[in-house]
Amino acid sequence: MLHVILMGPQGSGKGTQSERVRARLDLASIATGELFRAAIKGQTDLGQRIQAIYDRGDLVPDELTVALVEERLDELARERAAGSSVRGAVYDGFPRTEGQANALDRILTDRGETITTVVVIDVPRATLLRRLAARRVCANCGRVYNAESDPPRVDGVCDACGGQVVQRADDTPEAVTKRLDLYDDETAPLVERYAERGLLTRIDGNRAIDEVTASIVEAIQARAMATSPSGKVA
Ligand code: AMP
Repeated sequence: MLHVILMGPQGSGKGTQSERVRARLDLASIATGELFRAAIKGQTDLGQRIQAIYDRGDLVPDELTVALVEERLDELARERAAGSSVRGAVYDGFPRTEGQANALDRILTDRGETITTVVVIDVPRATLLRRLAARRVCANCGRVYNAESDPPRVDGVCDACGGQVVQRADDTPEAVTKRLDLYDDETAPLVERYAERGLLTRIDGNRAIDEVTASIVEAIQARAMATSPSGKVA
C-alpha cells in the first residue's frame, strides 16, 4: 500500500493538492483537520471535546489524533479486503508532532507497511498570510474560495451547493499566527527527520495549482516505482 505524507504550512495548498493527488492516484485521504471539522459539525463526543482547542488554533492532543488515524486506516483495510481498488492513503495535516510521527511509524510497522514518500510544499510566509486572510470555505460542502482571486459568483453563496461561504473559525489573525508558529516549532522538525531517512521531496508551492499537482504526482510516482519490487506502481 502507498502511504504518502503531504506536509506544508497552513495555506500552502495542502488540502487542495491532497484532494487532487488522491483522485489522480486512487488514494484515500486521511485529513485530520477535515475529520475534526466533521466531528465538530456533527457535535460528536470528540467534536465537543476539541472545539475550543480547534477554534484557538491549538493542536488536538496526540492520543485523540492518533486514534482517529488508526480508525481511518482500519476502515481502509476493511474496504480493501472487500475489493476496493484504492491503492493507499495520502496524509494531509498528519503527523504534526514528533509523538504523532513516532505513532505513525509504529502503526505502519505493526501492519507490515512503511511510508512511501513525504512531500513538502514550500511557500513563503508572506504569501501564506495573504492566502489565509483571503481564504473562505463553504460551511456545507467545504469547497474552498479565495475572497480576492477566486470568490463565489454570488457573494457569500457557494457555487457548488448554495451553502453559506464563511471564514474558517481558525483563520482569524490570532489563530493563524499561532498555527504558523506551531508549524515552525512542532512540525517543521519532522521534515528533517524524514529527510534523514531519504523520504523527502520538496516542491515549490508558489506556482499555478496544476503545476504543483503535476510535480507532486511525479514525485510520488517516482518514489513508488523505486520502492515497488516489481517496478510497477502497485
Ligand atoms: P488543518 O485543516 O489541517 O489546518 O487543521 C485544522 C485544525 O485541526 C488544527 O489547527 C488543529 O486544531 C487540528 N488538527 C488537525 N490535524 C491535527 C494534528 N495532526 N494534530 C493535532 N491537531 C490537528
